[in-house]
Amino acid sequence: MDWISHLLFSFVLGTILLKDVTGKKMAVVMVASLFPDLDIFWHHRSELHSPLVLLVLALLLAIRYRVFFAQLLIGFWSHSALDIFLFDNSNHTIQNLANQIVSNESVAQHIEDNIMRYTAADGIMLFYPFNSEQFSITLDEKSYAIVAGFIIVTAVLAFVWLYFKRESSGRFT
Ligand SMILES: [Zn+2]
Repeated sequence: MDWISHLLFSFVLGTILLKDVTGKKMAVVMVASLFPDLDIFWHHRSELHSPLVLLVLALLLAIRYRVFFAQLLIGFWSHSALDIFLFDNSNHTIQNLANQIVSNESVAQHIEDNIMRYTAADGIMLFYPFNSEQFSITLDEKSYAIVAGFIIVTAVLAFVWLYFKRESSGRFT
């Protein structure tokens, strides 16, 4: 999934799972939600996307910064969860979209090749280091759009909910 979806999804989970949501906590959650993609510099969806590796990392960081543990874990795991979903581009949806914008077949092809090169993956190693098998759920355009739409809607709801919660607590305390 793209980084905007990762940010929004971690925002939703943070809102649901954290008590006393603050801007600072949400910032940690959202930064953590982007962290696993640092592996794009060597091998995307590597060990850094594995839930167990991320748990160990969160624990190690928690030794020093204990308060951040829950935030880090929510951000990390929200990333793993979303990256299980893969986009099925066998109909060349990306190329067609690009072609509508640039109206040039070969440039569109080039754009698709590049996007696929950076996002191509076979899922995530759910049980690494015990098992290196990669798990994924491939979605066609329609179901991918539904998942993305669902994330956006819940993010808006979470934002509205936080807003009103802050309003009311400001009034009563
Ligand atoms: Zn990723």
